Amino acid sequence: MSAGTVIIGASHAGVTCAAALREAGYTDRILLVSEEEGIPCHRPPLSKGYMTGAVSVDSLPLKSASFYQEDNIDLLTGVKVTAVNPGQKNVVLSNGKIVSYNYLVLATGSKPRPWHGADLPEHVYTLRTVQDASNIARRAASLSGAVVVIGGGYVGLELAATLRTHFKKEVHIVEMAPRLLRRAASAELSEYVAELHKKAGNSLHLSCPVRAINAGHKTIIDVVLHDDTVINAEMVILGTGIVPEQTLAGEAGLACQDGIVVDKFCKTSDEFIFAIGDCSRSPVAHHAQTLRLECVQNAMDQARVAASVIVGEAKEYAAVPWFWSDQLGVKFQTAGIIEDGMTCVVRGEKSSGKYALFHFYSNGRLGAVETINQPALHMLARRLLAAEISPDMQQAGDVQFDLKGLIGK
Ligand SMILES: Cc1cc2nc3c(=O)[nH]c(=O)nc-3n(C[C@H](O)[C@H](O)[C@H](O)COP(=O)(O)OP(=O)(O)OC[C@H]3O[C@@H](n4cnc5c(N)ncnc54)[C@H](O)[C@@H]3O)c2cc1C
Repeated sequence: MSAGTVIIGASHAGVTCAAALREAGYTDRILLVSEEEGIPCHRPPLSKGYMTGAVSVDSLPLKSASFYQEDNIDLLTGVKVTAVNPGQKNVVLSNGKIVSYNYLVLATGSKPRPWHGADLPEHVYTLRTVQDASNIARRAASLSGAVVVIGGGYVGLELAATLRTHFKKEVHIVEMAPRLLRRAASAELSEYVAELHKKAGNSLHLSCPVRAINAGHKTIIDVVLHDDTVINAEMVILGTGIVPEQTLAGEAGLACQDGIVVDKFCKTSDEFIFAIGDCSRSPVAHHAQTLRLECVQNAMDQARVAASVIVGEAKEYAAVPWFWSDQLGVKFQTAGIIEDGMTCVVRGEKSSGKYALFHFYSNGRLGAVETINQPALHMLARRLLAAEISPDMQQAGDVQFDLKGLIGK
């Protein structure tokens, strides 16, 4: 009997891969090992609706408990894989067991970037798990002082928005780069997001590296900025990004380079081992360099690619990357990858709160589209990018121009 497939990590990537294997008719054993306790859950609501209570804990699971039984997927939670032995094609579990595999899928994700400083005082939080989110919400509900969010990326900003509007806190957003969302959004979108946060009452501290986070008087935390300014807070959120969880892969001798290196079939340097989701670095359609993407779309699409290879119907990873963020009542969606040096064309009126930013490469080809409260246009942008159909800049900026007509349907 085949040893089947072992999947390490049961989140967006791992669970989707297990489901895709069964959908494709895979009948061998599937073992899904999760270091986290409990049923695997969606992460995006943790910085959004779950924090406010709009999304209940019951709606967080990625799949119902019965799904794993019905699809004959062995879900092992609260157990860590401590070693991978590619030579013997087995993995070692924290409960001492050794499990053989035919194929191994690393869906180990990412973890919050460790803070560089000394030991952190109490009430400094990162957000990755349901437990983290519950801890933050509980603390936010009980404090009267200010909150400092370190890092102006999407997760930090979503939390800052919720802490301000729902918990009514004084919020300081401290970012070392000269603008918010430096890695994930265009300068034009950053500016709009910054305006929204300021309007909501949040204080922005840009170009401000944090030098130290110290325990202050009683429950106060002193956040010391690069110029010795001190912000007193009762809670600090570290939104300073994530790092790929590639320890097992590295120790097993697989190629890693800020992510586990995979080809367009999500295969690592070992032909029986795949890496998918946040932990992987892969080729991306229309891009010369490999990328490490940190979004649900990438986790799910790569999971389906790995499953297709395992069942012998290999499909390559060719998806257009996309992701979304909800904050301060606004839906932001991005299709494609924003790169420095692109030309930005605005479609619609910024003042209406419903517009889009079309980004073009220097050769005039459309490369990415950021939409603000325009979900239908976001879907259309994904179709245009996937089909490599590019409006010209004049067409993109003209709201009367029928972009759908370019696709011909
Ligand atoms: C608060 C928050 C909000 C987000 N919002 C959005 C959003 O709006 N849109 C969007 O597209 N993306 C969003 N993301 C990002 C998105 O959640 C990630 O891209 C996605 O979770 C990646 O899935 P993954 O399965 O690759 O990895 P992860 O979700 O990181 O899961 C990896 C799992 O593997 C487990 N694991 C690791 N090592 C081992 C081991 N040795 N043994 C056993 N288990 C192990 C980990 O414990 C973890 O459970 C958000 C993330 C967070 C934290």
